Order: sequence, then structure tokens, then C-alpha cells
Amino acid sequence: WENAGYRDTWVEVNLNSIVHNIKSLQKRLQPSTNLMAVVKADGYGHGAAEIARTALQAGAQYLGVAIVDEALQLNQAGIAAPILVLGYTPVRSVRVALIHDVTLTVYTLDVLQEISFQAKELNKIVRIHLKVDTGMGRIGVTTEREVMEIVRFADADPYIELEGIFTHFADADSLQSSYTEEQFFRFLEVLDFIQRDGYDIPIKHCCNSAATIRYPGMHLNMVRVGIAMYGLYPDPTMREEYELRQVISLKTRIASLKCIQKAQAVSYGSTFVSERVSMIATLPIGYADGLSRSLSNRGRTEVRGKYAPIIGRICMDQTMIDVTDIEGCKPGEEVTLIGDRKELPTVDELAELVGTINYEVVCLIGKRVPRIYL
Ligand code: PLP
Repeated sequence: WENAGYRDTWVEVNLNSIVHNIKSLQKRLQPSTNLMAVVKADGYGHGAAEIARTALQAGAQYLGVAIVDEALQLNQAGIAAPILVLGYTPVRSVRVALIHDVTLTVYTLDVLQEISFQAKELNKIVRIHLKVDTGMGRIGVTTEREVMEIVRFADADPYIELEGIFTHFADADSLQSSYTEEQFFRFLEVLDFIQRDGYDIPIKHCCNSAATIRYPGMHLNMVRVGIAMYGLYPDPTMREEYELRQVISLKTRIASLKCIQKAQAVSYGSTFVSERVSMIATLPIGYADGLSRSLSNRGRTEVRGKYAPIIGRICMDQTMIDVTDIEGCKPGEEVTLIGDRKELPTVDELAELVGTINYEVVCLIGKRVPRIYL
């Protein structure tokens, strides 16, 4: 609890569940397939450094982040494993990345030329991965000419090691497999013509969590696992296939408890009006902590083993719940907003109520909420 700060709202991160999820995923991988733990966006809100350390101990071989800054944070936390920046790196950030041995994703010649220039200046061999766009329509090269331009450039440059090549699926979580299969075959074609030209790129990867679970035949020699490592399913239909354990919980304690009369309004806009004499608890958490305002009058919490509905509008730092039917509630009582068991409000339940995906719910839990590691 050293880093818990002075407030009574916190996130619990169960690192044993990270280990469980990684082991459970690894059981389905061939021994020759490595696992990249994707810890971008502060480890999907769980805390990148702690998740990265745990994932590496559990057997992950590579770390994936979105931007150079995230790689440097891991570096500063003393993590020595290889880190791939999966996204775009501006030319001006290439040098610092190379100084810290961060692996960069490349799909344009200008970044490659800068890498080449800086690597020579620094007199070190640097690793890159080539990104191919096979149908996501995001970053990545799309033509054979572009692929070969980068492959040949890297091959001719003594300071560049083209260590990996990858693509990203757009629709691996859907039950319809045809688009993913098309993307995979397109990727195999690319690998094939690179090989036919006599080049060898050691690490080939395309699977995110959904594809890792659904398409064992597409694992190649590395998979990039994010959401499943955090114990969340990219799609609810995958529940039967894998037993994953949700890692995160969000908890608070009752800050104030009061009895209100019938027909009394609660919170901004008076959107809740009591239908009976009620016991109302105020929680020290609000939308600035990532508790979406759209859960106002809709979400529920758990107190003393019972559900307590969120009433009235969620404020920036405070939220009210109705605990009239919960006996023995006291100020300081623990309240679960996100729990890690199905009897509790789960990340998926919140996502559904808010109209988003579980990824967004965990990523948006505010930075001012301390993370406690169990
Ligand atoms: N690979 C890339 C390129 C990504 O952008 C992401 C995340 O969006 C992942 C892998 C991990 O995806 P998931 O969390 O669905 O496993």
C-alpha cells in the first residue's frame, strides 16, 4: 500500500492472474512461438512496468508498446527485455529510441534513412520490424515494391538488422473468419516473395489476442497478446475456449452516508428523485477517475455482497449510490465498482452499459487512481 496515496479509491491489479493468463495462452503455442506482452497505454491501464516484469517472469520474450515514450519508461524502470514500438515514430524521436536499444517499426523510407544515419552515428547495430498493411488500412506498406525497397535497404546497411516483419488483423475477434484468412494469406504471400528473393527475416508475427485464441495455425513464430493477458476477452464467445482471469478491480470506500426524505433530488440536474425514504452513500470517485458519466442512473456497485445502484449524475470526483436495502453500511465501507468475479460488476458489464469495449474501460481508469499490486 506504499503507493496508495491519501485517497480511499484504488485499483487492485492481481499479478498472479497475469501469470495465469500467460501460462494458459502459452499452453496453446508451439514451443517455437514466442509471446510478446503488449503493455502500451500503461499496460492497458494496469501499470506498464509491473505488468511487463510479471509477463517476462511468466515467460513472455518481447514487449510491445505504442510509442517511444512508453518504451523509455520501461527502460527507466530497469526492464532490459527487447521492446518493439508497434506504432508510428516521428523522425525526430529515432535517435533517442536507438540510444536506448528500442526496436522500431518501419514502413517508410524517411524513417529508415534516419535510422540508418543515427545508427551509424551511434556506431551500433539496431533492430527494426517491417510493418505490412494487409487490410487494416492503418500503418504499413501495401505494395511489393515498398516491401522490397525496405528489405533491400536494410540488407545493404551494416548497421540495420531487419529482425521482424508483421501485420495486424482488423477482424480477428469476429466469428466470420474470411477477412482474417484473406489478410493472413496476403501476409504469407509477402513472406514468400521476400524469401524467394533470398532474404530471411527471423521474427514473423500477425496474431493479436483474438487471433492467438481463434487461429492457432496463424501464430507463426511470435504472437502479440494484449487484452487476453489482462484476462479480458476480445469477444464474449471466446469464454468457452480459454479460462482467463480478469486482473483489474476498482474499489472505493463510502465517504458519507445520509438519509434523505421521499421526493428528494440527488446530484446535478436533479435527474434522480427518491421514491422513498432512502439511505444514500457518497463515493469519492467520479468521471475524472474514469467512471464514465454515462453510467449515471444506470451503473451498479457492490457493497457487503449486495448490489447498490448508482443514482443521479456521476460528478467529476464523487458518485452517489443507493444503499437503502443494504444493512449495516457504515462510512468507510468498501465498495466495488469493477470486480474480478462474475457476481460483481465486471469490466464487460460496464463496457456494455457505456456502449464501448472492455479495452476502453480499463485504459480510461484515471491516472490519479493509485494501482495496488497483489
Ligand atoms: N498488435 C498491435 C499492432 C496492436 O495495435 C495491438 C493492440 O491494439 C495488439 C497487438 C494487441 O491486441 P489485443 O489487445 O487485442 O491482444
